[in-house]
Parts: sequence; C-alpha cells; structure tokens
Amino acid sequence: MPELRKDIITGRWVIISTDRAHRPTDFVRQSVEIRGGGFCPFCPGGEAKTPPEVLAFGRNGGGANTAGWTVRVVPNKFPALGIEGTLDRQGEGIFGKMNGIGAHEVIVETPDHYGSLATLPEYSVEQVLWAYRDRILDLKKDRRFRYILIFKNHGEAAGATLEHTHSQLIALPIVPKRVREEVDNSRKYYGEKERCIFCDILRQEREAGVRVILENDDCIAISPYAPRFPFETWLLPKRHASAYEDAEAGIYRGCAALLRDVLRRMDAVLEKPAYNYVIHTSPAGEETNDHYHWHIEMMPRLTKVAGFEWGTDFYLNPTPPEEAARFLREAVVTVG
Ligand SMILES: [Zn+2]
Ligand SMILES: [Zn+2]
Ligand SMILES: [Zn+2]
Repeated sequence: MPELRKDIITGRWVIISTDRAHRPTDFVRQSVEIRGGGFCPFCPGGEAKTPPEVLAFGRNGGGANTAGWTVRVVPNKFPALGIEGTLDRQGEGIFGKMNGIGAHEVIVETPDHYGSLATLPEYSVEQVLWAYRDRILDLKKDRRFRYILIFKNHGEAAGATLEHTHSQLIALPIVPKRVREEVDNSRKYYGEKERCIFCDILRQEREAGVRVILENDDCIAISPYAPRFPFETWLLPKRHASAYEDAEAGIYRGCAALLRDVLRRMDAVLEKPAYNYVIHTSPAGEETNDHYHWHIEMMPRLTKVAGFEWGTDFYLNPTPPEEAARFLREAVVTVG
C-alpha cells in the first residue's frame, strides 16, 4: 500500500509508494561528468571576463580580479534582478508588483575546473560555507533586502549552465513564500509547544535512527519523514540556531564535513547525480528567534515533476526515506 505522509513543517502531503520501492539504480538519469575544453570564465585567468569580484579568499598579495584565489564571488553577468534603484512597491488593481530590485551573485567554489564539492578537500568546502556567510552579512546591510537565498545547481539536469562548480545567491526584496510558510508554521508550533519544531524533529529522528544518514558533533543529515523527492536530504545544526550567518565558527566546519560526505555518498549510490540544494534560514530582521532553525535541503534530480505535482502540490515519491537513508548510510565511499 502506498502511504500518504504529511510534512509537519509545511503541511504538504506526499505519496510514498512503499510497495514499488525503487532501488537507486532504477532511476533513469545522466551522471554529471566534467568535460573541460573551451574557455571557462570561472577558471583562473578568466577573471576579466566576469564582472569585478565582490569577495575573494586565499589571494596572497595578488591584486583583485587576478588569479591566485581559492573562492571567488562575482555578480552574475545575466542577473535575474538588478541592484540599482529604489524599491517601489505598487500594484495594478488587485495585482501586486514591485520593481525588480535584487542582487544575483555567483560563488565560484574552487579554481579547479574539475573539482566538485564531493571531491574537494574538506577545508575547501568549509571556505565555500564561509563565503556564503560573508556575502549574506554584507548584503543584509542593504535594507531593501528581506531574504538572501543561497542555492546550488549541479549538473545540466539541475539547471547549471556552466560546468565549473559554483553556487548562486539571490538577494530578494521579499521573503519567498516557501520560507515564509516554514517560518510562520514554526512560529505557530512554538506558540503551542514552546519548542522549536526542527529541534523536536531532530530529537525524534535521533531516537528512531531509521532516517538518520550521518552525524558529527555539530550537524546531522537526515532523510525527512515526508520527502518530496527520492533521496531528498536535510542537513541541520544539532543545536538550535535560527540564522545561518550567525552560526558559531565550528558549525561551518562540521557542516562542510557532512555536506561533502553526503555528496560523496550520493555520487557513489546514485552515480554522480545532478542535484540542487538551498539554504533555508531566518529572514533579515528576524534572525534571532527560538522557533526557526536553519537547514540545507538537498535534492538529487532523479525524477521529473509532472502534472500531478503541478496540479496539486502533492508529490509522488517512489523511494521511502528509510530506504534512502539506509542506502546512503551504508554507501561505500572511497577515501581520497
Ligand atoms: Zn573552469
Ligand atoms: Zn531548533
Ligand atoms: Zn526548509
């Protein structure tokens, strides 16, 4: 029998088809291979082909926009939103609109064209997480922005247009609906129980164990109870923390280790899948609170969202999270 499960944070239902559980190898997909060749604006030497950098780590005496960096952040050459102008909210009758104020940046995670977050040293992944933090803190000084979204598209099937490993950041003048729902529902839960809903989930998951993939002193990776997608994975700090950018220093190290490990396991079990991840954190102006708990949602791209999902916001997931967690937990990852 398939099972209907409810995501306690968003109230969204998913259908888990427990009786036709797919093995990881059953998904039709293409592995993400880095081919190289041709000019790459994210490779050292290509600095002049991107807009001037807003942040660079690792440069030892060299000038801005030259080689020698380890992580480099630049404005997106084709931004979804523009940074210039004042925010102007107005509508057309019953329709709401505002001008497209925002920032859109690219975090180039390594100078190595052939690297990925799964193959880079742990220290490099940690640097990427620090770069996210520095950019969020900087952009939050701009009072027009209500939310800074960090996300990553890895592989063409996940929407990446350049193969050199990178993440993106979009600063928005509004809080995205998905985040607003999570924050509001978490606040409501806190109002009733005086506990953070995510801390409660973590406590229950650690007791049950079946959906825990990995953990270290600081962070934990779980398959959520009602995942939308096969092998959807959440990564959370173990101690309550409402804003990503305000985390204690050690958290970024712990989180980097776990993120890298989970990605290596996904590469092993799912044959280098395309994936997306997003960071969900408290919006600007409500950073410090007891009800919301920042996390990273990771989604390997194994299935296609189709009519049923579009029409209902229900999701059909052929892999029970208990199975996904077990596959990832037991994955054999070659040390390197
Ligand atoms: Zn490159
Ligand atoms: Zn919490
Ligand atoms: Zn979330």
